[in-house]
Amino acid sequence: QAKELGRDTYRFYTPGLNERASTLLLMEGALRQAVDQNNLVVYYQPQVELTSGRVVGVEALLRWRHPQQGMISPAEFIPLAEETGLIVSIGEWALLQACRQGCLWHQTGYAPLRVAVNISARQFRQSDLVAMVRRVLRETGFDGRHLELELTESLLMDDVDGAIATMTQLSQLGVRLSIDDFGTGYSSLAYLKRFPINYLKIDRSFVRDIMDDPNDAAIAATIIDLARNMNLHVIAEGIELEAQRVFLQQKGCRYGKGYLFSQPLPADQLTLLLARQPAERP
Ligand code: C2E
Ligand code: MG
Ligand code: MG
Ligand code: MG
Repeated sequence: QAKELGRDTYRFYTPGLNERASTLLLMEGALRQAVDQNNLVVYYQPQVELTSGRVVGVEALLRWRHPQQGMISPAEFIPLAEETGLIVSIGEWALLQACRQGCLWHQTGYAPLRVAVNISARQFRQSDLVAMVRRVLRETGFDGRHLELELTESLLMDDVDGAIATMTQLSQLGVRLSIDDFGTGYSSLAYLKRFPINYLKIDRSFVRDIMDDPNDAAIAATIIDLARNMNLHVIAEGIELEAQRVFLQQKGCRYGKGYLFSQPLPADQLTLLLARQPAERP
């Protein structure tokens, strides 16, 4: 027994594991309940053109409305959903909501707003992912060309050939693909050129200190150049300050997201924000 191994071991080892296991179980139960009781909500964060501030797209971001604890961030429950496999049904639900909402926005005149949805590693490895996306597009009537799926580097590097095959099939649905949190994973540039992707998203950890840390500034500028040379669009994440926007724009980055423009919002609030945006040029 761990108890016999000494007090430190007992305290440090056994209860830690048990605690973690029971916390996981409790949270898993609560998360299942949240799904059943409609306590998951999709928020939308605008993605803007840096020069004009015009909203060109939105990213769908899940929130868990906990009856006691209030809003729980996906940073807390997505890893759990991933570990338990719940992400497969939750992810499909989120995609369905986002495509439905995208249709509504298109119908009310905000075409061609692009809707981005995050796909986790476990979802990406599902053999029926492509069929699921096709079904959701058909069911909602959303045009695949306005849907963007966000993938991470680590997910792609796991099985490069498999990933390319899946991405190719997704592209055939018209769906756009992006690499999220670019620069934080381990993608090899040699593979990058083989991936049928449309966008690179500069991770917000590089944007945060762009004005003070010359290394971060250099990394961001390099990603922007890389994207341009590979004919990819680049989107900077986590822009909070006007100075960051100006810097990124001057380096040639066309699109961005961040609190400077808007926090993620419930759909109805995003609709209000769209209504206020500058008129489309003829
Ligand atoms: P992500 O895809 O990289 O999303 C960007 C995160 O940055 C979001 O956090 C967003 O609220 C936050 N953010 C946006 N602008 C700013 C800013 O200016 N400053 C700062 N400090 N943060 C900003 P959020 O909503 O907490 O989501 C965290 C992560 O959870 C997402 O990271 C994504 O990986 C995951 N996630 C969210 N929804 C889903 C989903 O439906 N499916 C899957 N598989 N993952 C999801
Ligand atoms: Mg994302
Ligand atoms: Mg990101
Ligand atoms: Mg992420």
